[in-house]
Amino acid sequence: MSQDLALDVIIVGAGVLGCSLALELARRSHRVVVLDSRGGPGYGSTSASSAIIRYHYSHLPESAIAWEAGHRWQDWERHLGVVDPIGMAQFVPSGALVLEGPGYDIELFVSILRELNIDVDELTAAELRERFPGLDPQRIGPATVLEDDHFWAEPTGELAGMYVEGAGHIDDPQLATHNLAHAAEANGAVFRFGCEVVAVLRDGGRVSGVELAGGERVHARVVVNVAGPWSAQLNRLADVLEDFTTTTRPLEHEVVSVPAPADFRLGHGGTCVTDADFATYFRVHAGDTIIVGGLEPPCDELVFLDSPDDAATSISQKTWELQTLRLARRLPGLGIPSTPRGIIGVYDVTEDWIPIYDRTALDGYYVAIGTSGHGFKQAPFVGEIMARLIEQVEGGHDHDREPLVVKGSWTGVDVDLAHFSRLRGVVPQRGMG
Ligand SMILES: Cc1cc2nc3c(=O)[nH]c(=O)nc-3n(C[C@H](O)[C@H](O)[C@H](O)COP(=O)(O)OP(=O)(O)OC[C@H]3O[C@@H](n4cnc5c(N)ncnc54)[C@H](O)[C@@H]3O)c2cc1C
Repeated sequence: MSQDLALDVIIVGAGVLGCSLALELARRSHRVVVLDSRGGPGYGSTSASSAIIRYHYSHLPESAIAWEAGHRWQDWERHLGVVDPIGMAQFVPSGALVLEGPGYDIELFVSILRELNIDVDELTAAELRERFPGLDPQRIGPATVLEDDHFWAEPTGELAGMYVEGAGHIDDPQLATHNLAHAAEANGAVFRFGCEVVAVLRDGGRVSGVELAGGERVHARVVVNVAGPWSAQLNRLADVLEDFTTTTRPLEHEVVSVPAPADFRLGHGGTCVTDADFATYFRVHAGDTIIVGGLEPPCDELVFLDSPDDAATSISQKTWELQTLRLARRLPGLGIPSTPRGIIGVYDVTEDWIPIYDRTALDGYYVAIGTSGHGFKQAPFVGEIMARLIEQVEGGHDHDREPLVVKGSWTGVDVDLAHFSRLRGVVPQRGMG
């Protein structure tokens, strides 16, 4: 892009998505300022991410984004084009296993993965035992709360599953975000931390910048809301929500940490698991530990917050007991320590758990929001998707009438952005299928 076509862009939010977008826009020679109220990149919801890089989704466009992004995670230095002096995040090839259960259609996952030429193995219970000896593949679900007698009921059969060897996780999501910010800076992007955006400015029917707490005004032709679970607050300030068919809401999410049994560790039968039968997800983690979170089954209360800042600061005893005991039923070798450990994060959830990557009715104001607890993996490609979307729309393309299809340059996948439109038909669901 020549300098005279370069755009002035304000990105609100230096999480993994905002930093990825900053890199892609700066690479295209746009003048980028990233504003964040916190002290550094990745200090928001990204810091709590389990950072699982899986490719199975119930919809092809999301699998396609994850697959293209997965290639970039796996060749991180090539993607960034620079080496961050504080260290580089690593893709850990821990694989991804799904156990069948309500709301998780393995046949559908497999057909989408195969359409994208992603290697996937369908496994019987006997094959699951052989490959993952520490894991008991008996049907114990559907998940219940601890007080329900069914929690301890005898198994009612055996589970089938699917496994993607090429999946994994990122060892340090905050460092990965720092890596993106460093690469963006190397391409000319400017980061300003400790800056809270308190107003979105308009001029002549389009966005013209933002106002910071303290009164400073920063002007730009383009403003992008990449504010994670604070996205709804910023959209309200911008007054753009009238034509959205889905909302974004902050949902508290607790992730518990336990010592891993010897038969479920990295390189020794451990992997990333979506246990749709008993409604947990868990993965091997550094220091021979396992982290485990819930899949939001109907029996679990969803804790929506007015603001992400209202989230609890320490793991509740109730969640600790529930998730560790659910995990113990799946991993019989698990020992449960008496002291609760874990972290609390906040998802930015839409009604259908599909993100919104789109323009808005306010010219120049864009959103990459509503990542619903699964947006970390998508970030390296979503930055490029948003950069291309912004360029096309600013160049006059009517994306609402004719949604763009973006091709992944590493895998050749096509992503139809109609799927992520703020105007899409929304089918509400609970949890990320
Ligand atoms: C517990 C947990 C586990 C997860 N596990 C996974 C997983 O395994 N795999 C996966 O793919 N995804 C996972 N996710 C989801 C993923 O982490 C998120 O989708 C992703 O990190 C969101 O990044 P972001 O950049 O959009 O938001 P954030 O990282 O939240 O960044 C938003 C930034 O905006 C700033 N901000 C907000 N409002 C303002 C304002 N008005 N002014 C200035 N700055 C502002 C905030 O300070 C923040 O730094 C998980 C999320 C959580 C919480």
